[in-house]
Amino acid sequence: MAEERFRCPYCGKLTRPYERYCDFCEHDISKFKDKLEKEEREKACFIATAAYGTPFAKEIDVLRDWRDNTLSKNFFGVLFVKFYYKISPPIARFISKRRILRKLVRIVLKSFVMVLRKSYK
Ligand SMILES: [Zn+2]
Repeated sequence: MAEERFRCPYCGKLTRPYERYCDFCEHDISKFKDKLEKEEREKACFIATAAYGTPFAKEIDVLRDWRDNTLSKNFFGVLFVKFYYKISPPIARFISKRRILRKLVRIVLKSFVMVLRKSYK
């Protein structure tokens, strides 16, 4: 496996991603890595993140588990996830600007998450 590298925003060189400081210019790069991780999390569910206004809602964790443990293990699930990532960014943008719609999506997701939780037990 190739060693992971992180491009330093200060000097543009590839440095080790698990270090706090750049190997070359010694700038503190930790805050940029946090941002990168945050973006990764947001990617997990655009629509839910838009609805909750944060990628850290516990409902989103349930949806993420559903994607990783159920959807990713069958053919149609994988197709669905691919399709979802294609269509969801514009939908998420649309939702994030409308308060009432965000509330509505949260209500729908809440019931859906409850169903998912039951099916796990
Ligand atoms: Zn640097």
